[in-house]
Amino acid sequence: MTTLMEKAHAGLLTEEIKRVAVEEGADAGDVRKYIALGHIVIPKSVNSKSSPVGVGKLMRTKVNANIGTSRDYVDIEAEVKKAIIAEKYGADTIMDLSTGGDLDLVRKRIIDAVSIPVGSVPIYQAAEDGIESMTSDDMFNAVRKHAKDGIDFVTIHAGVNHESFKRLKNSDRILDVVSRGGAMTLSWMKQNYEENPFYAEYDYLLELAREFELTISLGDGMRPGCINDASDRAKFEEFIQLGELVRRARAAGVQTLVEGPGHVPIDEIGLSVNAMKHLTGDAPLYLLGPLVTDIAPGYDHITAAMGGAVAGMHGADFLCMTTPAEHLALPDEDDIREGAIVARIAAHAADLTKAGVREKARAKDREMALARKDLDWNRQFMLAIDSEKAKNIHARSKNADTCSMCGELCSIKMMKDVLGKK
Ligand code: SF4
Repeated sequence: MTTLMEKAHAGLLTEEIKRVAVEEGADAGDVRKYIALGHIVIPKSVNSKSSPVGVGKLMRTKVNANIGTSRDYVDIEAEVKKAIIAEKYGADTIMDLSTGGDLDLVRKRIIDAVSIPVGSVPIYQAAEDGIESMTSDDMFNAVRKHAKDGIDFVTIHAGVNHESFKRLKNSDRILDVVSRGGAMTLSWMKQNYEENPFYAEYDYLLELAREFELTISLGDGMRPGCINDASDRAKFEEFIQLGELVRRARAAGVQTLVEGPGHVPIDEIGLSVNAMKHLTGDAPLYLLGPLVTDIAPGYDHITAAMGGAVAGMHGADFLCMTTPAEHLALPDEDDIREGAIVARIAAHAADLTKAGVREKARAKDREMALARKDLDWNRQFMLAIDSEKAKNIHARSKNADTCSMCGELCSIKMMKDVLGKK
């Protein structure tokens, strides 16, 4: 099978490329060129019915929503509702991170419920019966199964290997490994005295990805889980390795994303993003945060949005939303709604600064400014990222013309009189 990257190399403008170009207001030839280089990915596997979404250079900053059951809490209907809510409130992709209940069923139900691309972490299913009994075949079979079901992109922690583990052991981290897939992989390696199969047999993984046009999201199993651990050697060692894995995937015609941290103080985000982009040959960068402080549980959707906006400004392409439940519990439907909206705000704030997308993004803010100047409330609600909330809050104002913040002292209204404008 010829993959999308190979078609792009050959100069073909596929249907997906044309649709993404129209959606983003970009030139289709540029989209093709950057897909060929691996700077844009369109995660859409052969069995998927999802609408194509572009991630990377010249593209709007995208938002992913993580949902899924846990071993403590299994309610498939709730997860399906969360998927629908996430799409409704601005997620561009969904990841099913289920670890409890009937994993095949929840995955299929989520894929059927949304029109956006769906990703997964196949090792969660491979280890369903325990890490002790998991084999390397289980790991690859889980990837195949997910691809067959129509999953568009999979997180693979191939950068978690003996080399990066050695670096981790020599570090003075507080939180060691906070990535679930990373910790599972290291447990398996320790129990079996073997290298990570996804690293050792990476070429086989690439064959599987080629067969299904599966996009590989190279997970950052060594991502820092607290401010103390940000930007350390273990993280950069893994990025050096991820860069090499990106290069091998590109040579095999397989699309790759690279995942990044985690918890990073604001003044280190630019350095972190630039280094990751440099080491991975400008692969589309997918960030899990970064959360800019550790001390705001209950508000980590906000700490992540602050980091996400700054990271986006420096070139991050894809933000994984964080919910108010982060570090505390499995998110419920309200948490997903709030997380999706706040991540969408961060992504838009980043887009206001990004070459290639800022003009389109700024046009929306200009429209809002004009609606505010006209005191046109319905137009303001229509343009708002969260129209329902804006409308509900404004309903508290008694004066239909202005709002209850200043009432008759509305400066916008006064200045119309001062300047003689209608
Ligand atoms: S009343 Fe105050 S806050 Fe409300 S629209 Fe006028 S200037 Fe803005």
